[in-house]
Amino acid sequence: MIKRRIFIAAALVILAIFLVLYQFGQLRSTTLGSLFDDDVTYVSLRFDDGWKSQLNAHEALKKYGLTGSIYIISGFMGDEGYMDWSDVETVSETMEIGGHTVSHADLRNLETMQDYEDEIGDDYRTLVDKGFDVRTFVYPYGNYSAVAIQVIKKYYICASTQDVGVNTQNTDLFLLRDFTIRSFNSIEDMERKILPGTWTILTFHDVGEPHADANSAVKSNAVSVSFFDDILKWLKASDIQVITVAEGCELLMKVQGK
Ligand SMILES: [Zn+2]
Repeated sequence: MIKRRIFIAAALVILAIFLVLYQFGQLRSTTLGSLFDDDVTYVSLRFDDGWKSQLNAHEALKKYGLTGSIYIISGFMGDEGYMDWSDVETVSETMEIGGHTVSHADLRNLETMQDYEDEIGDDYRTLVDKGFDVRTFVYPYGNYSAVAIQVIKKYYICASTQDVGVNTQNTDLFLLRDFTIRSFNSIEDMERKILPGTWTILTFHDVGEPHADANSAVKSNAVSVSFFDDILKWLKASDIQVITVAEGCELLMKVQGK
């Protein structure tokens, strides 16, 4: 009995160590190479889903004179917890608007080519019809497939995953890496993650209180307004250049001769 408990405790400790290493250490195994030269380090601030609370992020960006990139689920705007179209118009003052499908579809397993077109193409057309200059895409849940990439390439210059890591001159434009920032992260984590000469995408969900009916996954992704403000203050005081995802993709295209 005691042996069994020791075994379970040891297994839990190993699992915990693995999770910590995964969150903070995976960067070490990323193939490195700089984007331009080691003197310039780029960061993009990515906001997924178009949550109402991301209006707080817009206010903070405005305060510090910084820009971001927000990925709108066009079929969800106006729903509980999400922005409405006038909010999207407001955040477009500081944020690039990008595509994130009509209904947050998992792009690994749609049935027909038309289904991919309906999710990706219709979303793109809605955003363009609203007057936004839409150039970049984010895969819902970070999930992608060869067929999804084929359709996305018709509309977008690049697309971001949730594969953990920094972006370098070798990064595939349609498989951009990121780091999701959650409430338990710290500025020190970001200092460790962001490497000289690379381009790092920091992903945020709710900035401030998630809506009342949010599920636990949504709630665990929320960062506080004060933590977000601290991040911008730190970025502003650093040598890091904050660019939109579209600007990062343009840099990458240039380096890769595309
Ligand atoms: Zn999403």
